[in-house]
Amino acid sequence: MNIPTRPPGASTAATELVFAPVGIAHLTNTNVDLVRAAARGAQRLRVTTAAQLNGTPHIGTVVTVLTVFAFTAHVRDALDLPATVIFDALDNAPAEHIEIEGAVYTRTVGDLIDSGHLDPVLRVSGFQRLLAWASTKSGVRYEFRPYSVYQGLRPVRECLHAIASRLQEFAPIVAPTDGIVRIRPRCPQCRLMEKSAANLRITAGDGVVHLDSRCPEHRHYRESIDITGASGWYDANTPVRSIQKGYLLAAERDLHDACSVSVDGADWGGAWRAHVLAPALAALGVPVAEWPVSVFTPMILDRSAGKLSKTLYVRYGKNYTDLPEAFLNLDLLLDRHGEDALDAIWSEAQLWAREPRRLHRSYTVDYLARLLPTAAIPVQAAPLAATRAGATA
Ligand SMILES: [Zn+2]
Repeated sequence: MNIPTRPPGASTAATELVFAPVGIAHLTNTNVDLVRAAARGAQRLRVTTAAQLNGTPHIGTVVTVLTVFAFTAHVRDALDLPATVIFDALDNAPAEHIEIEGAVYTRTVGDLIDSGHLDPVLRVSGFQRLLAWASTKSGVRYEFRPYSVYQGLRPVRECLHAIASRLQEFAPIVAPTDGIVRIRPRCPQCRLMEKSAANLRITAGDGVVHLDSRCPEHRHYRESIDITGASGWYDANTPVRSIQKGYLLAAERDLHDACSVSVDGADWGGAWRAHVLAPALAALGVPVAEWPVSVFTPMILDRSAGKLSKTLYVRYGKNYTDLPEAFLNLDLLLDRHGEDALDAIWSEAQLWAREPRRLHRSYTVDYLARLLPTAAIPVQAAPLAATRAGATA
């Protein structure tokens, strides 16, 4: 196996790792084995990943994106297929919450950009900088796909129509708590969206999905979603969007003559796949042989062995885990460590991309901090104990 050697003086943290036995790592020699069968006969490789545009990327997003490109380049080289990374930029993430008469309404990142209340450069530039860097490094081209484009794609809307036509069947899968399927429209006049979807009514017609809802100011409104993508906009919440993506990638096999792979963080494996995605793809009648290949990137853990979360960090501040601020903000990371920081993480991501035992485990923030080329980021917890905590069971 061709594993790049570390430059002199670089961290040797990778050699300190202990690899607990993991089933899938025993089953595969290289991570290409996860794609090999699905790629047979395909003319190209399409690797899709996604992130909410909720600010500048933090270290977890950086690591995921670099691993996506490293993995794509590795499979491209091994299978000799042209490859593209599709980055779904989720600008439908809520950016504003307003409470009116006890009910919560939101506006999306995209809406606030359209209305001039959010600077699109601030929201998008960090991601584009990261994607451009990874693309240059790997030689893999990429597409930046806003949510507005994604939600209008024909297979995505076919899937929407199927779910809307069989709400009783899909509600327990996508909304096991309250049974409310959240395919939400927004008020055409003020773009407020009802978070609870309490007033939402979904009806499927011939080639169209009607979404009826109510604005606290402009009263009842109807958004009609044409299956061809010609008209309409809706916000699909996470489970609906995840299922649509699975359906879309299955359709890409014929649409693009492609082997489609989704690469996401490890929290989209396990329970999510078992309880949401797999039952939904089965209910939609997508043949198992056409299910997209799913690959999961290592989870980055904080010092309590929880998933590193920018939201939690912002909410609980320094009490959360004493994480270095640069890990929460790509701009700061690059300001303090320059592109050497990305180079260091890239070298590591290349190892993860090839070796099953490195891909199928978690890593702590302290492990990542030790990979960086300078000691400017303080490591405050006991490093070895933290690294052991990162091993995936
Ligand atoms: Zn309104």
